[in-house]
Amino acid sequence: MVNPDDDALDYEAMAAALDRWCQVPDDVLTTVVVRRGLCLWGLWPAVEPDWDDCAPSDRELAARLCAGCPVIDQCRELDLRTAGPSTTGVWGALAEDDRRALHPIWQHRRQQHNTTDQEGGPLP
Ligand code: SF4
Repeated sequence: MVNPDDDALDYEAMAAALDRWCQVPDDVLTTVVVRRGLCLWGLWPAVEPDWDDCAPSDRELAARLCAGCPVIDQCRELDLRTAGPSTTGVWGALAEDDRRALHPIWQHRRQQHNTTDQEGGPLP
């Protein structure tokens, strides 16, 4: 869970949490996100004018907009794969700056995963 008030997000933990999706093909992830993503069903909550602060940070806005979405991790994984460092807007309950910071860490984990076998040893 992302704490929008915490300046230092744990990108390593976020990237590790996405490892479970590494074998899922892009088209399957896309189908899951399109079918179940709240925003894709017009279910993003309306921006309420009476929030405590009148100008929430991008991080806070992303967390609020995606709160309760059942496919946050899948959406995050899909955006990291498809948009990568060129990402914009809100995806996977993260602001674009956070996804850009997460991307190289996620990418490094994937490269390591792709060069090791199931037991963690190097591929021949
Ligand atoms: S995580 Fe956010 S951007 Fe992604 S599908 Fe859910 S509501 Fe939409």
